[in-house]
Amino acid sequence: MIEASCHCGAVRMEIAAAPEAVTQCGCSICRRLGTLWAYYPPASVRLVPPTGATEIYSWGEKKLEFHRCRICGNATHWAAVDKTVNRMGVNARLMPPEIVKAAQLLEIDGPG
Ligand SMILES: [Zn+2]
Repeated sequence: MIEASCHCGAVRMEIAAAPEAVTQCGCSICRRLGTLWAYYPPASVRLVPPTGATEIYSWGEKKLEFHRCRICGNATHWAAVDKTVNRMGVNARLMPPEIVKAAQLLEIDGPG
């Protein structure tokens, strides 16, 4: 298990395994956030606390919720509004730097 944390520590994530790859997405929001996404099934990520520590931003078709820490503003993760989608994105920038360095860097041009 590895841990990720926002800058102030109000949002933590306990994640089943280190990512093999992290994705730099060129879509309109990700390029502004500067996030590196590591994708997981939601069951592999435990959010601490489970609710209440983040604010949500949704845009466009509003299929995704982008979460940020209410206190320090760090982008922490995204989750699908449709809870049957077995995929979420964790901002690998919140993981220890050596874990990010060890992962393969993928670059995609996301939609929008
Ligand atoms: Zn924070």
